[in-house]
Amino acid sequence: MPSFVITEKCDGCKAQDKTACQYICPHDLMALDREKMKAYNQEPDQCWECYNCVKICPVQAVEIRGYADYVPMGASVIPLRGTDSVMWTIQFRNGTIKRFKFPIRTTPEGSIDPYAGQPEPDYSRIKQPGYYNYEARKE
Ligand code: SF4
Ligand code: SF4
Repeated sequence: MPSFVITEKCDGCKAQDKTACQYICPHDLMALDREKMKAYNQEPDQCWECYNCVKICPVQAVEIRGYADYVPMGASVIPLRGTDSVMWTIQFRNGTIKRFKFPIRTTPEGSIDPYAGQPEPDYSRIKQPGYYNYEARKE
């Protein structure tokens, strides 16, 4: 179920260089129309459905395009992002509503160093399989 932007809610992240949804999408799918200051998922067919954009949007403007077999019948998937968690409200087509709360990261965006504590790569091994940290992992 790919994501889509509710344009009435989107404020283009107030014209910053890169919007939150652009920053977070691992597939570079989110684009910003700078004239209208509205973001959109430019290639829903390529969406990984990771929902990072849904979770990061500060104004809950990104939602999930549900599959056609249930959404036209009144179902929906709505996230509400808090400071330390995301509350997902799932409405099933029979009207049942369930909520799921999941914790989210509490560190600032871009502050994590994924290579912290890892040794420098040995570039003389660049053409060998298992290049990165090969020796370090064997030890
Ligand atoms: Fe719009 Fe939300 Fe994307 Fe910001 S993160 S540009 S508000 S959809
Ligand atoms: Fe990108 Fe994931 Fe959002 Fe799809 S759900 S547009 S892959 S961030």
